[in-house]
Amino acid sequence: MDCIDLIKGSSRIFGIIGHPVSHSFSPVLQNSIESLCQKNSVYVAFPVEEGQVKTAIKGGFALGIQGFNVTVPFKVEVMDCLCEIDPFAKQIGAVNTLKRMSQGFKGYNTDILGMEKSLTIQGISLKGKRVAVLGAGGAAHAAVILAASRGAKKLQIVNRTIKKAENLLEHVKNYYNINGESISYTEFLKGEKPDILIQTTSCGMGKTAETPLEAPSFFNGIEAVLDIIYTPWETRFLADAKKAGCIAINGFDMLLFQGIASYEIWNDVLLSKEQCLILRNNLTEYYQGISR
Ligand code: NAP
Repeated sequence: MDCIDLIKGSSRIFGIIGHPVSHSFSPVLQNSIESLCQKNSVYVAFPVEEGQVKTAIKGGFALGIQGFNVTVPFKVEVMDCLCEIDPFAKQIGAVNTLKRMSQGFKGYNTDILGMEKSLTIQGISLKGKRVAVLGAGGAAHAAVILAASRGAKKLQIVNRTIKKAENLLEHVKNYYNINGESISYTEFLKGEKPDILIQTTSCGMGKTAETPLEAPSFFNGIEAVLDIIYTPWETRFLADAKKAGCIAINGFDMLLFQGIASYEIWNDVLLSKEQCLILRNNLTEYYQGISR
């Protein structure tokens, strides 16, 4: 079907705001979901200059935009522009999805839902597990709240800048009574191994062979490793984990399922397993093609 058949005067408009956004996969993802579900909506990218978020959100509301995804660098700043914030998003301290309400936009965090789904579709649960999170930035916030809220037995936060790991541990302890520690990479490599390792740093992103863990033998005996990076398809970190026999998951399913969760929130629908599978197959093939 052509755009000319799909976009009408009554079409509801959704979009992503960020800086930059021209590289974003979300328009392809959201318009693919729309082609499957046919809810009369269209999704575009809105580049927003730094310092202009409030104006953009206000303008978006005035223009009748029904919802936004929010990406770097606005996931925290945008929280000051909302009429309501979902409690889980408040715990994480960042939102990536805005839904239009009568008085403004309500904020949600679907990164955490995508991250959880990328693990559960591989049969991995965090309950009762020793979980280690590499990194202490925005994505790490979602990872630690996920681990704590899903009953991890132990939580390690490993970061280059140790103060940020300490602050994040303190933050999660405001909400959950969890056995946790914030440590350096050197200490981490010397200690007991986790069951599940979640890599949330940007190290290895793009066309680099960098890895935050320069110790391939450390992966031996770890059950599962999630590297939330999705470009390249397989980072060196993930290749090392795979060689050691770990279940090795890249960031694509997280990206896919955070988008599906946003669509579900906006449209008050739940996609079926079959619909999710169709999208996963089609978009994996598409994404692998363009990221090669
Ligand atoms: P962020 O807030 O900027 O945090 C970056 C983190 O990476 C910090 O903890 C930083 O450590 C660490 N880091 C950077 N370079 C490093 C290096 N060379 N060695 C060790 N640690 C290093 O970024 P973010 O928003 O959390 O995003 C992180 C990554 O996740 C990005 O690659 C992003 O594309 C990806 N992501 C994927 C999804 C998905 O759907 N799959 C969703 C969100 C984000 P310091 O504190 O020491 O600087």
